[in-house]
Amino acid sequence: MDTVPSRVVVLSGAGLSAASGVPTFRGAGGLWEGHAVEDVATPEAWRRDPELVRRFYDARRSALTGVVPNAGHRALVRLQAAWGTERVLLVTQNIDGLLGVAGAQEVLEMHGALRKLRCSASEGHPWVDIVGDQDRTARCACGAPLRPAVVWFGEVPLYMPRITAALAACQLFLSVGTSGLVYPAAGFVRLARQVGARCVEVNPAPVGGPFHEVIAEGGETALPRLVAALLA
Ligand SMILES: [Zn+2]
Repeated sequence: MDTVPSRVVVLSGAGLSAASGVPTFRGAGGLWEGHAVEDVATPEAWRRDPELVRRFYDARRSALTGVVPNAGHRALVRLQAAWGTERVLLVTQNIDGLLGVAGAQEVLEMHGALRKLRCSASEGHPWVDIVGDQDRTARCACGAPLRPAVVWFGEVPLYMPRITAALAACQLFLSVGTSGLVYPAAGFVRLARQVGARCVEVNPAPVGGPFHEVIAEGGETALPRLVAALLA
């Protein structure tokens, strides 16, 4: 990197957490107890069978037991700690919360958070932390049942105005461990390129697209090196 970027946006996906052993449920077949994931991770499924949906997320939450951040998470946290949240925006598609566990000051979890519940009537009502299985009787202060604070298929990802504004002002866009195929994230690199940002993809199986540089490696090995170079 010739010049030190003043603003950085990092988008991370499942690949960042793969080295930590987080099961994706999205890989081969994407089946859970015989259900297509697309059939349990939707508002329709919640209306039809909330118990099934709760069990699915209880299982995913339970699968995080003992899972710890890896060197890739920790490198991103170091960068944000060194340069501050104004300069380094961490955006993730992951719902595992591992960037937060690694100590990130701020993470925009655009697909929500497995370790949180939210009101089923309004996304704006206070979210609550959850450990273990969801208490079936838990309700929001407004009286509506709580639901997993996860963005389902057919719902709009969170924080899009902030993410878009940050992309429009960044000099470095880093995409880590995400297929980049799902919109709106798929459009991030195009937006960053439009404003002249250097665009780097870190992915052992690169998807290509309009990146200036592709590092065909996992984040757990590439990010410590990349971050060290930025901070040098
Ligand atoms: Zn509520």
